[in-house]
Amino acid sequence: MTSDLNIWLERLSSLQRKHMRNAANIEGIQLVHLEILRFLSISNKYSNTAQALCDYLGQTKGSISQSLKLIEDVGYIVRKPCEKDGRVIRLYLSAEGTKCLKRLEEALLPELPENEKRVSVLKDLLSEWQVRNDLKGFGQCKSCRFNEQLGQSKFKCGLTGEALSKTDIEKICQEHVF
Ligand code: SF4
Repeated sequence: MTSDLNIWLERLSSLQRKHMRNAANIEGIQLVHLEILRFLSISNKYSNTAQALCDYLGQTKGSISQSLKLIEDVGYIVRKPCEKDGRVIRLYLSAEGTKCLKRLEEALLPELPENEKRVSVLKDLLSEWQVRNDLKGFGQCKSCRFNEQLGQSKFKCGLTGEALSKTDIEKICQEHVF
């Protein structure tokens, strides 16, 4: 029998997808295109690649590259070689993509007040789900075990040894570990 927890989770998830689909329709794009734009607006500098997108959205390489081509053709994203490793191509929202996402944002999610208790419950659920299913990170940097706070606004990634800004730690990372 389906547990109460799963019933509520399913409802929450279906409601969120409904909101996102409606928002995408308004803009004349598909849900997956909106998901890509959203991902690129919240992912950090280690996670803005086509492969990370495939892992995050659970889609095949073929389907993600088709979607990327389409939103690149309309000017919503740009590809640039990684500054540290030219073999890696990184994806960025263009000014047009950012504007499009901004227009959509109001229709995306209800304005729920931020509440630490709620966030903590959701994080616990996600953490357990990911561990049980051996899934990759994709969590907010500030909750990662490798995140080291060096000063009031100074942080460091213990995995890469690189400095992180206050903005960086709000983003999601594919290497995140609870
Ligand atoms: S601290 Fe964790 S989440 Fe943050 S950049 Fe490093 S690996 Fe990623």
